[in-house]
Amino acid sequence: MEHGSSKQNVGFILQSIRAFCTEKEVITMYSKEAFICDCVAIFAKTEGNTVEIPGVGSIVLFDEPLIGFADAEDALFESYRQPEIIGTNFMSPKEWLPAAGTVVSFFLPFTEAVRRSNRADRTDPSPEWLYGRIEGQAFISRFTAGLKKMLKERRTECCVPSLDERFGIRFEAAFTGEKPDFHADSRWSERHAAYACGLGTFSLSRGLISEKGIAGRYASLIVSETWPATVRDYTGVDDYCIKCGACARNCPAQAITVEHGKNNVLCKAQVDRMQEKYSPRYGCGKCQVNVPCEFRVPGKRPRAERAGKAP
Ligand code: SF4
Ligand code: SF4
Repeated sequence: MEHGSSKQNVGFILQSIRAFCTEKEVITMYSKEAFICDCVAIFAKTEGNTVEIPGVGSIVLFDEPLIGFADAEDALFESYRQPEIIGTNFMSPKEWLPAAGTVVSFFLPFTEAVRRSNRADRTDPSPEWLYGRIEGQAFISRFTAGLKKMLKERRTECCVPSLDERFGIRFEAAFTGEKPDFHADSRWSERHAAYACGLGTFSLSRGLISEKGIAGRYASLIVSETWPATVRDYTGVDDYCIKCGACARNCPAQAITVEHGKNNVLCKAQVDRMQEKYSPRYGCGKCQVNVPCEFRVPGKRPRAERAGKAP
């Protein structure tokens, strides 16, 4: 009798939960921690992170990603519309996805094998770097598409700006010092999303220095979940860059100066030359290897260590 009564109680409780739990409430039960586990699992099972390079062999392109989170209504996103930051073309998370709650950013660090290979020659990119740039981006697109599919199955709304047909970049004339330059007024910026998501800060070479350095690729999603934001342990836009000038010294196109940062026209001309030589691939990345920020924040202990946790 008692056993039956307890069964009835459980049934009543479940019925009550179902009655009072709206669909939205069920959806928000998907925790940030569970999502991170899903990201790691999808990263591992997405095809294309291991590539076969003629004359080199089989190589893994990316280590596991760093993941950061920002409130979709973080004031930083609105500030990105300022012409001196990105520009009026920039779309806020809510414009990409009206139900936006959180922006999720990923940094996929290149493996030591990819980075090491690009340190050898001072002008031309290594085959591993070229594959990391082109096949690596294709892998990232599959990875983010896989995340979107998984989220859809969980009934979480998701937009991947880089895969969205509205994504676009408008180039505007600018100057770096005395030299002609261009400014990319983009509808979305992976680096700016990563900065907002606490993943790192900008650098002299205009890359973003993360806890795992600058050599790698960024990606992002906008989701309807409202997950806690990652604490940004910086206040300045380039806090992690020590202005050592190593990236400027490495640049085969003299596109970087400590005074003015990177000139996009000179950089693009170098990358175009490499494309003529290595088409359909292209790349350079000499400013991202053999530098103090290649795989870490220069002069800083990793975040986990600083927080007193095991790395
Ligand atoms: S090499 Fe030095 S100056 Fe260049 S981005 Fe890295 S830390 Fe900054
Ligand atoms: S990618 Fe190459 S050309 Fe462009 S700034 Fe870096 S080192 Fe210079």
